[in-house]
Amino acid sequence: MTMPEQRRILATAIPGPLSLERHATRKAELANGLGTTMPVFIDRAGGGVLVDIDGNHLIDMASGIAVTSVGASHPEVVRRVSEQVERFTHTCFLVTEYDGFVDVAAALNRLTPGDHAKKTALFSTGAEAVENAVKIARAATGRPAVVVLGHAYHGRTLLTMSMTSKNVPYKEGFGPFATEVYRVPSPYPYRWPSGPERAAEEAFEALKEIVTSQIGATNVAAIVAEPIQGEGGFIVPPPGYLKAVQEFANEHGIVFVADEIQTGLARTGAMFACEHEDVVPDLITTAKALAGGMPLAAVTGRAEIMDAVAAGGLGGTYAGNPVACAAALGALKAIESEGLVARAREIEERVRLRLEELVAPFSVVGEVRGRGAMIALEFVRPGTTEPAPEMAKAVVERCHQEGVLTLLCGTFGNVIRLLPPLVIPMDLLDEAVDVLVDAVRSVA
Ligand SMILES: *Cc1c(COP(=O)(O)O)cnc(C)c1O
Repeated sequence: MTMPEQRRILATAIPGPLSLERHATRKAELANGLGTTMPVFIDRAGGGVLVDIDGNHLIDMASGIAVTSVGASHPEVVRRVSEQVERFTHTCFLVTEYDGFVDVAAALNRLTPGDHAKKTALFSTGAEAVENAVKIARAATGRPAVVVLGHAYHGRTLLTMSMTSKNVPYKEGFGPFATEVYRVPSPYPYRWPSGPERAAEEAFEALKEIVTSQIGATNVAAIVAEPIQGEGGFIVPPPGYLKAVQEFANEHGIVFVADEIQTGLARTGAMFACEHEDVVPDLITTAKALAGGMPLAAVTGRAEIMDAVAAGGLGGTYAGNPVACAAALGALKAIESEGLVARAREIEERVRLRLEELVAPFSVVGEVRGRGAMIALEFVRPGTTEPAPEMAKAVVERCHQEGVLTLLCGTFGNVIRLLPPLVIPMDLLDEAVDVLVDAVRSVA
Protein backbone atom coordinates (compact mmCIF):
# COMPACT_ATOMS: atom_id res chain seq x y z
CA MET A 1 0.00 0.00 0.00
CA THR A 2 1.47 3.36 -0.96
CA MET A 3 1.40 6.50 1.14
CA PRO A 4 -1.76 8.57 0.52
CA GLU A 5 -1.20 11.65 -1.58
CA GLN A 6 0.04 14.40 0.77
CA ARG A 7 -2.53 16.98 -0.22
CA ARG A 8 -5.83 18.31 1.15
CA ILE A 9 -8.67 17.20 -1.12
CA LEU A 10 -12.32 18.01 -0.51
CA ALA A 11 -14.22 15.48 -2.60
CA THR A 12 -17.60 15.84 -0.84
CA ALA A 13 -19.07 17.85 1.99
CA ILE A 14 -17.56 16.66 5.28
CA PRO A 15 -18.79 14.30 6.58
CA GLY A 16 -19.58 12.81 3.18
CA PRO A 17 -22.56 10.58 2.34
CA LEU A 18 -20.77 7.27 2.97
CA SER A 19 -19.48 8.42 6.35
CA LEU A 20 -22.94 9.70 7.32
CA GLU A 21 -24.47 6.33 6.48
CA ARG A 22 -21.90 4.36 8.49
CA HIS A 23 -22.19 6.80 11.34
CA ALA A 24 -25.92 6.09 11.55
CA THR A 25 -25.15 2.35 11.82
CA ARG A 26 -22.52 3.06 14.42
CA LYS A 27 -25.06 4.98 16.48
CA ALA A 28 -27.33 1.95 16.49
CA GLU A 29 -24.57 -0.53 17.34
CA LEU A 30 -22.24 1.28 19.75
CA ALA A 31 -22.62 2.45 23.32
CA ASN A 32 -23.33 6.18 23.63
CA GLY A 33 -20.41 6.62 26.02
CA LEU A 34 -17.97 6.38 23.11
CA GLY A 35 -17.56 9.90 21.76
CA THR A 36 -16.17 10.96 18.37
CA THR A 37 -14.54 14.28 17.49
CA MET A 38 -15.06 14.11 13.74
CA PRO A 39 -17.63 11.62 12.40
CA VAL A 40 -15.78 10.46 9.29
CA PHE A 41 -14.75 6.86 8.61
CA ILE A 42 -11.13 6.44 7.59
CA ASP A 43 -9.96 4.27 4.74
CA ARG A 44 -6.20 4.84 4.97
CA ALA A 45 -3.76 7.25 6.51
CA GLY A 46 -0.09 8.17 6.52
CA GLY A 47 2.29 11.12 6.73
CA GLY A 48 0.11 14.16 7.45
CA VAL A 49 -3.05 12.91 5.76
CA LEU A 50 -6.15 10.85 6.60
CA VAL A 51 -8.25 9.63 3.67
CA ASP A 52 -11.92 9.00 4.43
CA ILE A 53 -14.25 6.56 2.68
CA ASP A 54 -15.75 9.41 0.63
CA GLY A 55 -12.31 10.19 -0.81
CA ASN A 56 -11.64 13.34 1.21
CA HIS A 57 -7.99 13.90 2.11
CA LEU A 58 -7.91 15.52 5.55
CA ILE A 59 -4.88 17.22 7.04
CA ASP A 60 -4.10 15.49 10.29
CA MET A 61 -3.47 17.93 13.16
CA ALA A 62 -4.31 15.33 15.80
CA SER A 63 -2.13 12.23 15.25
CA GLY A 64 -4.86 10.13 16.88
CA ILE A 65 -4.15 12.13 20.05
CA ALA A 66 -0.35 12.33 19.86
CA VAL A 67 0.02 8.68 18.86
CA THR A 68 1.04 8.64 15.19
CA SER A 69 4.02 10.98 15.53
CA VAL A 70 5.74 9.00 12.75
CA GLY A 71 2.53 8.90 10.71
CA ALA A 72 -0.14 6.20 10.68
CA SER A 73 1.67 3.91 8.24
CA HIS A 74 5.39 4.59 8.57
CA PRO A 75 7.22 2.11 6.30
CA GLU A 76 9.57 1.08 9.12
CA VAL A 77 6.60 0.31 11.37
CA VAL A 78 4.64 -1.47 8.63
CA ARG A 79 7.61 -3.65 7.65
CA ARG A 80 8.47 -4.72 11.17
CA VAL A 81 4.85 -5.35 12.14
CA SER A 82 4.26 -7.45 9.00
CA GLU A 83 7.39 -9.50 9.63
CA GLN A 84 6.47 -10.06 13.27
CA VAL A 85 2.88 -11.07 12.49
CA GLU A 86 4.18 -13.77 10.17
CA ARG A 87 6.54 -15.14 12.84
CA PHE A 88 4.14 -15.06 15.82
CA THR A 89 1.46 -12.73 17.25
CA HIS A 90 1.65 -13.59 20.92
CA THR A 91 3.27 -15.79 23.51
CA CYS A 92 2.55 -13.73 26.65
CA PHE A 93 5.86 -12.47 27.98
CA LEU A 94 4.93 -13.88 31.41
CA VAL A 95 4.95 -17.34 29.81
CA THR A 96 7.86 -17.29 27.32
CA GLU A 97 10.26 -14.54 26.26
CA TYR A 98 11.10 -12.77 23.00
CA ASP A 99 13.66 -10.16 21.96
CA GLY A 100 11.31 -7.32 21.01
CA PHE A 101 10.20 -6.79 24.61
CA VAL A 102 13.79 -6.59 25.85
CA ASP A 103 14.88 -4.36 22.97
CA VAL A 104 12.10 -1.82 23.60
CA ALA A 105 12.96 -1.78 27.30
CA ALA A 106 16.65 -1.21 26.53
CA ALA A 107 15.77 1.62 24.13
CA LEU A 108 13.62 3.37 26.77
CA ASN A 109 16.31 2.91 29.41
CA ARG A 110 18.73 4.61 27.04
CA LEU A 111 16.43 7.42 25.81
CA THR A 112 14.81 8.58 29.09
CA PRO A 113 16.49 11.38 31.07
CA GLY A 114 19.24 10.62 33.61
CA ASP A 115 22.33 8.43 33.50
CA HIS A 116 21.44 6.34 36.57
CA ALA A 117 20.75 2.59 36.25
CA LYS A 118 17.26 2.15 34.79
CA LYS A 119 14.80 -0.64 34.20
CA THR A 120 11.53 -0.84 32.26
CA ALA A 121 8.27 -2.77 32.36
CA LEU A 122 5.91 -2.79 29.37
CA PHE A 123 2.11 -2.63 29.37
CA SER A 124 -0.59 -2.00 26.78
CA THR A 125 -2.24 1.36 27.57
CA GLY A 126 -1.32 4.64 29.15
CA ALA A 127 -3.71 4.19 32.05
CA GLU A 128 -2.13 0.83 32.78
CA ALA A 129 1.32 2.41 32.82
CA VAL A 130 0.18 5.07 35.31
CA GLU A 131 -1.51 2.43 37.50
CA ASN A 132 1.68 0.40 37.52
CA ALA A 133 3.88 3.39 38.28
CA VAL A 134 1.75 3.91 41.38
CA LYS A 135 1.95 0.23 42.31
CA ILE A 136 5.74 0.32 41.94
CA ALA A 137 6.07 3.54 43.96
CA ARG A 138 3.90 2.10 46.74
CA ALA A 139 5.90 -1.12 46.82
CA ALA A 140 9.19 0.80 46.87
CA THR A 141 8.19 3.23 49.63
CA GLY A 142 5.70 1.21 51.66
CA ARG A 143 3.48 4.33 51.61
CA PRO A 144 -0.10 4.74 50.37
CA ALA A 145 -0.70 8.34 49.20
CA VAL A 146 -0.54 9.66 45.65
CA VAL A 147 -0.37 13.41 44.94
CA VAL A 148 -1.69 14.75 41.63
CA LEU A 149 -2.35 18.19 40.15
CA GLY A 150 -5.43 20.16 39.27
CA HIS A 151 -6.27 19.86 35.53
CA ALA A 152 -4.47 16.49 35.47
CA TYR A 153 -5.42 13.69 33.11
CA HIS A 154 -4.09 10.21 33.77
CA GLY A 155 -6.65 7.83 32.24
CA ARG A 156 -10.04 6.18 32.56
CA THR A 157 -9.50 3.18 34.87
CA LEU A 158 -10.64 3.46 38.48
CA LEU A 159 -7.31 4.65 39.88
CA THR A 160 -6.34 6.86 36.95
CA MET A 161 -9.85 8.34 36.72
CA SER A 162 -9.53 9.15 40.41
CA MET A 163 -6.20 10.83 39.64
CA THR A 164 -7.80 12.79 36.78
CA SER A 165 -9.13 16.20 37.68
CA LYS A 166 -12.05 16.94 35.34
CA ASN A 167 -15.46 15.60 36.34
CA VAL A 168 -17.56 15.68 33.12
CA PRO A 169 -17.13 13.47 31.14
CA TYR A 170 -14.42 11.45 32.85
CA LYS A 171 -15.81 10.91 36.36
CA GLU A 172 -19.49 11.86 36.45
CA GLY A 173 -21.51 8.90 37.70
CA PHE A 174 -18.47 6.63 38.06
CA GLY A 175 -17.75 6.97 41.79
CA PRO A 176 -16.87 5.94 44.42
CA PHE A 177 -13.29 6.74 43.52
CA ALA A 178 -9.98 5.24 44.64
CA THR A 179 -8.76 6.46 48.02
CA GLU A 180 -5.39 8.03 48.93
CA VAL A 181 -5.40 10.39 45.94
CA TYR A 182 -4.70 14.03 46.91
CA ARG A 183 -4.85 17.04 44.60
CA VAL A 184 -2.67 20.14 44.66
CA PRO A 185 -3.17 23.26 42.53
CA SER A 186 -1.75 23.23 39.02
CA PRO A 187 0.42 26.28 38.31
CA TYR A 188 -1.66 27.40 35.31
CA PRO A 189 0.10 30.64 34.40
CA TYR A 190 -2.71 32.13 32.29
CA ARG A 191 -5.26 31.59 35.06
CA TRP A 192 -3.15 31.98 38.20
CA PRO A 193 -5.08 34.41 40.46
CA SER A 194 -2.10 36.56 41.47
CA GLY A 195 -0.55 36.53 37.98
CA PRO A 196 1.68 34.20 35.98
CA GLU A 197 4.92 35.35 37.62
CA ARG A 198 3.65 34.20 41.04
CA ALA A 199 2.38 30.80 39.83
CA ALA A 200 5.50 28.67 40.27
CA GLU A 201 6.26 29.77 43.80
CA GLU A 202 2.70 29.88 45.12
CA ALA A 203 1.73 26.53 43.60
CA PHE A 204 4.86 24.95 45.04
CA GLU A 205 4.10 26.44 48.49
CA ALA A 206 0.58 25.00 48.28
CA LEU A 207 1.98 21.57 47.38
CA LYS A 208 4.40 21.66 50.32
CA GLU A 209 1.63 22.70 52.69
CA ILE A 210 -0.75 19.97 51.53
CA VAL A 211 1.93 17.26 51.57
CA THR A 212 3.51 18.14 54.89
CA SER A 213 0.57 19.28 56.98
CA GLN A 214 -2.47 17.55 55.47
CA ILE A 215 -1.14 14.20 54.25
CA GLY A 216 2.23 13.88 55.98
CA ALA A 217 5.25 13.53 53.70
CA THR A 218 6.05 10.10 55.15
CA ASN A 219 2.69 8.84 53.88
CA VAL A 220 3.29 9.90 50.28
CA ALA A 221 4.43 7.23 47.82
CA ALA A 222 4.41 9.36 44.68
CA ILE A 223 3.84 12.76 43.17
CA VAL A 224 2.59 12.24 39.61
CA ALA A 225 2.67 15.13 37.14
CA GLU A 226 2.44 15.68 33.40
CA PRO A 227 5.37 17.94 32.41
CA ILE A 228 2.92 19.73 30.10
CA GLN A 229 -0.69 19.02 31.00
CA GLY A 230 -2.37 17.52 27.94
CA GLU A 231 -6.13 16.97 28.18
CA GLY A 232 -6.20 19.71 30.84
CA GLY A 233 -5.40 22.33 28.19
CA PHE A 234 -1.72 22.12 27.14
CA ILE A 235 -0.75 23.91 30.32
CA VAL A 236 2.99 24.55 30.42
CA PRO A 237 4.12 24.87 34.03
CA PRO A 238 6.09 28.03 34.81
CA PRO A 239 9.89 27.65 34.81
CA GLY A 240 11.27 26.14 37.99
CA TYR A 241 8.06 24.54 39.25
CA LEU A 242 8.75 20.95 38.17
CA LYS A 243 12.34 21.15 39.38
CA ALA A 244 11.22 22.37 42.81
CA VAL A 245 8.68 19.55 43.04
CA GLN A 246 11.23 16.97 41.98
CA GLU A 247 13.75 18.17 44.60
CA PHE A 248 11.07 18.27 47.29
CA ALA A 249 10.06 14.70 46.40
CA ASN A 250 13.66 13.51 46.56
CA GLU A 251 14.21 15.16 49.96
CA HIS A 252 11.21 13.34 51.39
CA GLY A 253 11.73 9.91 49.85
CA ILE A 254 8.73 10.43 47.56
CA VAL A 255 8.87 8.91 44.07
CA PHE A 256 8.53 11.64 41.43
CA VAL A 257 6.63 10.24 38.44
CA ALA A 258 6.53 12.17 35.16
CA ASP A 259 3.52 11.14 33.10
CA GLU A 260 5.00 11.69 29.62
CA ILE A 261 2.33 9.66 27.85
CA GLN A 262 1.30 12.64 25.70
CA THR A 263 4.49 14.75 25.86
CA GLY A 264 7.11 12.02 25.46
CA LEU A 265 9.12 10.75 22.49
CA ALA A 266 10.00 13.91 20.55
CA ARG A 267 6.59 15.62 20.65
CA THR A 268 7.70 18.77 22.49
CA GLY A 269 11.02 19.28 20.72
CA ALA A 270 12.95 17.20 23.25
CA MET A 271 12.89 13.43 23.53
CA PHE A 272 11.05 13.99 26.85
CA ALA A 273 9.39 17.21 28.00
CA CYS A 274 11.14 16.96 31.40
CA GLU A 275 14.40 17.78 29.65
CA HIS A 276 13.23 21.36 28.97
CA GLU A 277 13.26 21.89 32.73
CA ASP A 278 16.35 19.81 33.44
CA VAL A 279 14.20 17.46 35.53
CA VAL A 280 15.17 13.82 35.99
CA PRO A 281 12.10 11.88 37.17
CA ASP A 282 12.39 8.73 39.26
CA LEU A 283 9.79 7.02 37.08
CA ILE A 284 8.48 8.01 33.68
CA THR A 285 5.38 6.69 31.93
CA THR A 286 5.18 6.48 28.15
CA ALA A 287 2.55 5.19 25.73
CA LYS A 288 0.86 7.12 22.87
CA ALA A 289 3.75 7.79 20.43
CA LEU A 290 5.74 4.78 21.60
CA ALA A 291 4.63 2.24 19.02
CA GLY A 292 3.54 4.15 15.91
CA GLY A 293 -0.13 3.43 16.54
CA MET A 294 0.03 -0.02 18.13
CA PRO A 295 -1.03 -0.35 21.80
CA LEU A 296 2.08 -0.28 23.96
CA ALA A 297 2.98 1.52 27.18
CA ALA A 298 5.87 1.54 29.61
CA VAL A 299 7.12 2.50 33.02
CA THR A 300 10.84 3.29 33.03
CA GLY A 301 12.85 4.40 36.00
CA ARG A 302 15.45 3.97 38.69
CA ALA A 303 16.45 0.31 38.82
CA GLU A 304 16.16 0.08 42.61
CA ILE A 305 12.60 1.45 42.53
CA MET A 306 11.52 -0.68 39.57
CA ASP A 307 12.93 -3.78 41.28
CA ALA A 308 10.87 -3.23 44.45
CA VAL A 309 8.04 -5.39 43.10
CA ALA A 310 8.55 -9.15 43.41
CA ALA A 311 8.33 -11.40 40.30
CA GLY A 312 4.73 -11.87 39.23
CA GLY A 313 3.59 -8.52 40.63
CA LEU A 314 3.71 -6.72 37.28
CA GLY A 315 2.58 -7.70 33.81
CA GLY A 316 -0.55 -8.63 31.93
CA THR A 317 -1.68 -11.04 29.23
CA TYR A 318 -1.02 -8.60 26.39
CA ALA A 319 1.59 -6.40 28.10
CA GLY A 320 4.45 -5.82 25.68
CA ASN A 321 2.78 -7.74 22.86
CA PRO A 322 5.40 -8.76 20.25
CA VAL A 323 3.64 -7.02 17.34
CA ALA A 324 3.40 -3.81 19.36
CA CYS A 325 7.08 -4.14 20.33
CA ALA A 326 8.06 -4.58 16.67
CA ALA A 327 6.10 -1.42 15.86
CA ALA A 328 7.83 0.45 18.70
CA LEU A 329 11.27 -0.50 17.44
CA GLY A 330 10.30 0.88 14.02
CA ALA A 331 8.81 4.07 15.48
CA LEU A 332 11.80 4.71 17.74
CA LYS A 333 14.16 4.12 14.85
CA ALA A 334 12.21 6.65 12.74
CA ILE A 335 12.19 9.20 15.57
CA GLU A 336 15.95 8.96 15.97
CA SER A 337 17.11 8.50 12.38
CA GLU A 338 14.76 11.12 10.87
CA GLY A 339 15.60 13.74 13.49
CA LEU A 340 12.00 14.10 14.67
CA VAL A 341 13.01 15.86 17.89
CA ALA A 342 14.41 18.72 15.80
CA ARG A 343 11.40 18.48 13.47
CA ALA A 344 9.06 19.15 16.40
CA ARG A 345 10.98 22.38 17.07
CA GLU A 346 10.75 23.34 13.39
CA ILE A 347 7.00 22.79 13.53
CA GLU A 348 6.78 25.12 16.52
CA GLU A 349 8.79 27.81 14.72
CA ARG A 350 6.55 27.49 11.70
CA VAL A 351 3.26 27.62 13.62
CA ARG A 352 3.70 29.68 16.77
CA LEU A 353 4.29 33.16 15.37
CA ARG A 354 1.37 32.87 13.00
CA LEU A 355 -0.94 31.82 15.81
CA GLU A 356 0.39 34.51 18.14
CA GLU A 357 -0.82 37.10 15.65
CA LEU A 358 -4.31 36.07 16.72
CA VAL A 359 -3.69 37.23 20.29
CA ALA A 360 -4.65 40.87 20.83
CA PRO A 361 -6.39 42.85 23.61
CA PHE A 362 -9.93 42.15 22.37
CA SER A 363 -9.31 38.85 20.63
CA VAL A 364 -11.15 35.59 21.23
CA VAL A 365 -7.71 33.98 21.54
CA GLY A 366 -6.44 34.68 25.03
CA GLU A 367 -3.20 32.75 24.80
CA VAL A 368 -1.08 30.60 22.51
CA ARG A 369 1.08 28.13 24.38
CA GLY A 370 2.86 24.80 24.26
CA ARG A 371 6.18 23.44 23.14
CA GLY A 372 7.34 21.85 19.91
CA ALA A 373 4.55 20.17 18.00
CA MET A 374 2.22 20.45 20.98
CA ILE A 375 0.67 23.91 20.57
CA ALA A 376 -2.70 25.22 21.71
CA LEU A 377 -4.96 28.28 21.52
CA GLU A 378 -7.13 29.17 24.52
CA PHE A 379 -10.44 30.85 23.65
CA VAL A 380 -11.96 33.51 25.89
CA ARG A 381 -14.68 36.14 25.77
CA PRO A 382 -13.02 39.21 24.25
CA GLY A 383 -11.55 41.53 26.84
CA THR A 384 -11.81 38.92 29.65
CA THR A 385 -10.25 35.59 30.59
CA GLU A 386 -13.67 33.97 30.81
CA PRO A 387 -13.55 30.65 28.90
CA ALA A 388 -15.37 30.60 25.55
CA PRO A 389 -15.85 26.89 24.76
CA GLU A 390 -18.58 27.52 22.15
CA MET A 391 -16.11 29.71 20.25
CA ALA A 392 -13.43 26.99 20.28
CA LYS A 393 -16.01 24.44 19.20
CA ALA A 394 -17.18 26.62 16.32
CA VAL A 395 -13.60 27.04 15.08
CA VAL A 396 -12.94 23.30 15.30
CA GLU A 397 -16.13 22.54 13.37
CA ARG A 398 -15.17 25.04 10.72
CA CYS A 399 -11.74 23.39 10.38
CA HIS A 400 -13.37 19.98 10.07
CA GLN A 401 -15.64 21.21 7.28
CA GLU A 402 -12.53 22.52 5.54
CA GLY A 403 -10.75 19.18 5.86
CA VAL A 404 -8.41 19.93 8.76
CA LEU A 405 -8.68 17.65 11.77
CA THR A 406 -8.12 19.58 15.00
CA LEU A 407 -8.99 18.62 18.58
CA LEU A 408 -10.38 20.39 21.61
CA CYS A 409 -9.10 20.01 25.14
CA GLY A 410 -9.02 21.87 28.44
CA THR A 411 -10.89 21.72 31.71
CA PHE A 412 -13.26 24.35 30.31
CA GLY A 413 -13.37 22.83 26.80
CA ASN A 414 -12.08 26.10 25.35
CA VAL A 415 -8.67 25.07 24.05
CA ILE A 416 -7.84 23.96 20.49
CA ARG A 417 -4.78 21.77 20.45
CA LEU A 418 -2.51 20.99 17.55
CA LEU A 419 -0.71 17.66 17.52
CA PRO A 420 0.40 17.11 13.91
CA PRO A 421 2.37 14.01 12.99
CA LEU A 422 6.04 15.03 13.21
CA VAL A 423 6.49 13.78 9.65
CA ILE A 424 3.85 16.14 8.22
CA PRO A 425 5.10 17.92 5.07
CA MET A 426 5.69 21.59 5.92
CA ASP A 427 3.44 22.90 3.12
CA LEU A 428 0.54 20.85 4.49
CA LEU A 429 1.24 22.22 7.96
CA ASP A 430 1.16 25.79 6.59
CA GLU A 431 -2.11 25.05 4.81
CA ALA A 432 -3.68 23.67 8.00
CA VAL A 433 -2.63 26.81 9.87
CA ASP A 434 -4.13 28.97 7.07
CA VAL A 435 -7.43 27.15 7.50
CA LEU A 436 -7.30 27.48 11.28
CA VAL A 437 -6.44 31.19 11.20
CA ASP A 438 -9.27 31.85 8.69
CA ALA A 439 -11.66 29.86 10.88
CA VAL A 440 -10.72 31.92 13.95
CA ARG A 441 -11.18 35.18 12.02
CA SER A 442 -14.54 34.13 10.60
CA VAL A 443 -15.90 32.92 13.94
CA ALA A 444 -14.65 36.01 15.75
C1 LIG B 1 -3.70 9.63 27.08
C2 LIG B 1 -3.10 9.80 28.41
C3 LIG B 1 -3.19 8.81 29.40
C4 LIG B 1 -4.01 7.56 29.22
O1 LIG B 1 -3.56 6.75 28.16
P1 LIG B 1 -4.54 5.61 27.57
O2 LIG B 1 -3.66 4.88 26.61
O3 LIG B 1 -5.67 6.32 26.92
O4 LIG B 1 -4.98 4.79 28.72
C5 LIG B 1 -2.53 9.03 30.59
N1 LIG B 1 -1.81 10.14 30.82
C6 LIG B 1 -1.70 11.11 29.88
C7 LIG B 1 -0.88 12.30 30.19
C8 LIG B 1 -2.36 10.99 28.67
O5 LIG B 1 -2.27 11.97 27.76
